[in-house]
Amino acid sequence: MGFFNCIEKGSGLKRLFIGGVHGKEGLSTIKAIKKLSENDVKDGTLVLYNCDQSRYISTLNPLYYQSTVGKEVLYLISQYQPDMYIELHCYKPESYPALTSIDRIQRVGVPPLIELDKGVLIGSVSPQIRTKIFKKQDICITLEMPCSPSTETLKVYINFLKILAGAKNRFDLENKVKKIYPEQVETSQKYARIIFGKYPPF
Ligand SMILES: [Zn+2]
Repeated sequence: MGFFNCIEKGSGLKRLFIGGVHGKEGLSTIKAIKKLSENDVKDGTLVLYNCDQSRYISTLNPLYYQSTVGKEVLYLISQYQPDMYIELHCYKPESYPALTSIDRIQRVGVPPLIELDKGVLIGSVSPQIRTKIFKKQDICITLEMPCSPSTETLKVYINFLKILAGAKNRFDLENKVKKIYPEQVETSQKYARIIFGKYPPF
């Protein structure tokens, strides 16, 4: 059983943040998850979970969701039915080019991750769950940072998690993020249109 915390502030967005979904990533993501507190959530709920160490299987691989930890992830999603689902990952620095290069869509079928700052990357979650379990209007984000992050990187990562935790809905989130990362928001909408066609979904 990994780290678990649930912050409840009445009605509003249901948020589920899961860290360390494969391999040793949880050792890094727990550093960020533990920094989220009551003060970061204004309304709705925030469920935080950090998985224990497991065998590394990519979440793009359908077999992942048949593994023990993959089933744990699916269970948490079905249990909490989040409107906002955030997966916290970390990557080896040598993986940076593969994660961010434009040909990622041809290689692995998903758009490249987008750098916010200091090596912190955002993208969608695995299509295995994004289009099969979640609704189009749900907010689903993968957040990556280099494993064993520097203080500066961790700061960017935690700050973004706090924005997510405090956002009331998609519009509120996009407005807040646009102020700090306008180009990245534009790029992410362009990539979302590759997956979903029309985007934003309203
Ligand atoms: Zn990962």
